[in-house]
Amino acid sequence: MVDASPNALRDALRQVKDPFSSRDIVSAGLVEDIQVRGGLVQATLITDRTKAASMEPLRREVEAVLMRQPNVTNVTAILTAHKTAPAPAPHAHGHGGPGDKKALLLPDVKAIVAVASGKGGVGKSTVAVNLAVSLARQGHKVGLLDADIYGPSLPRMVGLSRKPEVRGDKMIPLRAWGISCMSIGFLVDEETPMIWRGPMVMGALEQMMGQVEWGALDILVVDMPPGTGDAQLTMAQRVALTGAVIVSTPQDIALIDARRGVRMFEKTNVPVLGLVENMSFYCCPNCGHRADIFGHGGAKAEAARLGAEFLGEIPLLLDIRTASDAGTPISASAPDSDAAKAYGALASRVWQKVSGAAVSRGSGPRIMID
Ligand code: ADP
Repeated sequence: MVDASPNALRDALRQVKDPFSSRDIVSAGLVEDIQVRGGLVQATLITDRTKAASMEPLRREVEAVLMRQPNVTNVTAILTAHKTAPAPAPHAHGHGGPGDKKALLLPDVKAIVAVASGKGGVGKSTVAVNLAVSLARQGHKVGLLDADIYGPSLPRMVGLSRKPEVRGDKMIPLRAWGISCMSIGFLVDEETPMIWRGPMVMGALEQMMGQVEWGALDILVVDMPPGTGDAQLTMAQRVALTGAVIVSTPQDIALIDARRGVRMFEKTNVPVLGLVENMSFYCCPNCGHRADIFGHGGAKAEAARLGAEFLGEIPLLLDIRTASDAGTPISASAPDSDAAKAYGALASRVWQKVSGAAVSRGSGPRIMID
């Protein structure tokens, strides 16, 4: 698919009228920036703070018009307030330029790492939880955000079912196993079926980042929903993700999905830190015999083929599942076990890879909160 051109999209916006002048929004200088990455389009509209509320219908109209253009699959239009008068329509340019006045959500978080998979059931959440716990055991200040709003599993996996306390206009994350945790599962009954439409997904995710008192963190691990849908795009578009860890099982079919996950992050300019092979081999708890039930090494070969790093392998172990089900992640409850060691090695490598980036997290995509 050929990317839509920012200039063509800008031209399309000439059909939208500025409610405060008789001109169209492009001539009126309201369209600050249009970025295109694959089928994803992000438009930034300038307003001043006093008008922000009344600009909402216009923002939606811009999204609707852009959505109708060829080769566009997903649109986010954002209002940004400038203190100075808007300059006449500048050229479309890339993210994070020196002139950017976009405010950053989670400014006190040094690194944000997404744990993702192409499909469900590969052990993504288990990896996210144990990665977070291992990072905390290695001395880092860690948060874990369960962004899997369709099927939140964090409350069960860390054994928490309380509602978070609210202070002022912010929720306080719950603490367990040395990490700060937030999940939509803390707020709604696990049995309540949740039906989310695109904009609600975005809103829920943004609230769990912006309206939660995460405090100063070294690293926030984000457990992404499976697949490559709305929530992934939202996160990739609106948060300065330091990188993504893709979890896969050795089966080929899962790897095909992992490939899709890798491509999605590449398309949205999020660095892929590497692949993890979960349920890599089976270790018999009685005799220690190792069996490669699903075939072994698929993720390693695939990582090499994709030019991504192979971050490590996690064995298929009954103890990993029983510990998760009991709400006691194995990295905390049995830190000397082989499983905990495997997650620990993964955590060390992830930290090594992001710590450079964590220090210089000053460029890259930004969330705008104006
Ligand atoms: P996902 O987030 O990809 O849907 P989960 O992390 O919820 O997957 O894992 C699915 C199931 O597999 C859970 O019951 C979990 O306890 C189990 N599981 C995950 N990883 C392992 C492993 N390495 N060994 C044994 N069971 C595992």
